[in-house]
Amino acid sequence: MAHIIDGKAISQQIKDELKEEAARLKEAGKTACLAVIQVGKDPASSVYVNNKKKACAYIGIESLSYELEETVSEEELLSLIRDLNGNPAVNGILVQLPLPAHIDEFKVIQTISPEKDVDGFHEKNVGALNTGGKGFVSCTPAGIIQLLKRSGISTAGKHCVVIGRSNIVGKPAAALMLRENATVTICHSRTQNLKEMTRQADILIVAMGRPKAIDADYVKDGAVVIDVGIHRMENGKLCGDVDYASVEPKASYITPVPGGVGPMTIAMLMENCMSAIR
Ligand code: NAP
Repeated sequence: MAHIIDGKAISQQIKDELKEEAARLKEAGKTACLAVIQVGKDPASSVYVNNKKKACAYIGIESLSYELEETVSEEELLSLIRDLNGNPAVNGILVQLPLPAHIDEFKVIQTISPEKDVDGFHEKNVGALNTGGKGFVSCTPAGIIQLLKRSGISTAGKHCVVIGRSNIVGKPAAALMLRENATVTICHSRTQNLKEMTRQADILIVAMGRPKAIDADYVKDGAVVIDVGIHRMENGKLCGDVDYASVEPKASYITPVPGGVGPMTIAMLMENCMSAIR
């Protein structure tokens, strides 16, 4: 039976620590301010944006909301970002993704000042992560590291296998695990003999976007299994990329879905906002 890593409790602990820090900084006259930009009214994006604003309110971070029409031009969006870059009262800028097809997501991300890029997606922050410099780190992978650390799981010298190489999860998760002195293997859709790779993992991070794709056959006895995936099943319930029922008895630690990695993403976004004013 695996120890279940409680992402809800750990994220709450982080938010409470940040709340205390925000109160202390407020007394010193400093308040963090996050600008959240949403383009269009995609219901899933609205839920994410609302949750981010709620977390800001809980901690004591100011949030500014910009709701733009689906038809807004790329230039109008870039111009808003440039204004916010130049606004000294704003510490963090977040553009909720995905954006409508007529807007170049890459250009938008690169227009955000790296010093205010609390999502950690700007090339300068990605570069800093990979060269050991200071910068914002993508929130979901940063949350994974916190889950491991706060569960007392050591990483140095461990073999970590990451399934997935996306810019927002797989690659930064691998870079962070390397920074934590793990030996890292990255797998993707062209990897041959995936099972052979994953069975060598002491720590298996799964971010492949395939519901329940990883069952017990892919997992070494006693491995730590971190499931990043999140999917809504036909019965309305959520599941991850890991087949929890089959893997849980074999793992030493496992993150559930929901309640594992998911809640950590917002907690780490809040951490990035606070670090912008430290
Ligand atoms: P993504 O951009 O679709 O990337 C998926 C990665 O998995 C790709 O690198 C892909 O390889 C690889 N892959 C797909 N099928 C594979 C297979 N059969 N064997 C090996 N590798 C395979 O997804 P993402 O944005 O990284 O997200 C991954 C999952 O995490 C999704 O379920 C997403 O909803 C979830 N997510 C959760 C949070 C959270 O807060 N909990 C945050 C972000 C994402 P190629 O590169 O070769 O195509």
